[in-house]
Amino acid sequence: MTDSFEARGKRKKLVDELRRKGITDEEVLRAINTVPRHAFMDPAFLNHAYADKAFPISSGQTISQPYTVAVQTSLLQVRKRDKILEIGTGSGYQAAILAEMGAKVYTIERFRELHLKAQHTLSLLGYSATFFFGDGYEGQPQYGPFDGIIVTAAAAEVPEKLMRQLKIGGRLVIPLGSATSQTMTLVVRTEENKFDYSSHGYFIFVPMIKGIVKS
Ligand code: SAH
Repeated sequence: MTDSFEARGKRKKLVDELRRKGITDEEVLRAINTVPRHAFMDPAFLNHAYADKAFPISSGQTISQPYTVAVQTSLLQVRKRDKILEIGTGSGYQAAILAEMGAKVYTIERFRELHLKAQHTLSLLGYSATFFFGDGYEGQPQYGPFDGIIVTAAAAEVPEKLMRQLKIGGRLVIPLGSATSQTMTLVVRTEENKFDYSSHGYFIFVPMIKGIVKS
């Protein structure tokens, strides 16, 4: 996968912009500076790849805005070798950011087409992750419990099965709300049956939908 001097320059500017917008986690910024976001989009859109904007991918879905990726990843407080489950593989960009940070990544996508394409993109870039074609509402109990769970689609409430797949001390980051606006919510499992909630600003995501799409 080719990177270029031009793309590296644009990434550095994007990182400067994210710093100005309040992102302080140096590991997150380093990962965004390293992962070639243009590899996750149609090559015709190189000019859009390093703008701080969400962008359409296939199957009517979007690659999240870099600022959103930075906020969610910062809230996860990823350490090397952490086991992280992502719901909503999409383009695979968020999964690559987590892999770049040294996490052991498990990611679930309900669209078969996106699932296959993301797998291909990550392998071209040399990142490893475990990909599942399935319904994220179920999580992946046989691979859990996880240090962190990141949901990259909007939900009305925290799926109970995902909360149960967190380690004690584990963190779940999820946009909660209506179709038009969601509150970024951090859920920390402090004890077996105790979960602490905190809110971290408003965002807009595509919806989390039950079931899979095989085509
Ligand atoms: N993390 C992605 C952003 C993808 S947008 C990236 O970095 O590009 C959200 C994704 O969540 C979409 O691809 C959508 O199909 C997927 N999704 C929605 N509901 C889901 C569910 N129940 N299980 C798995 N994936 C889901």
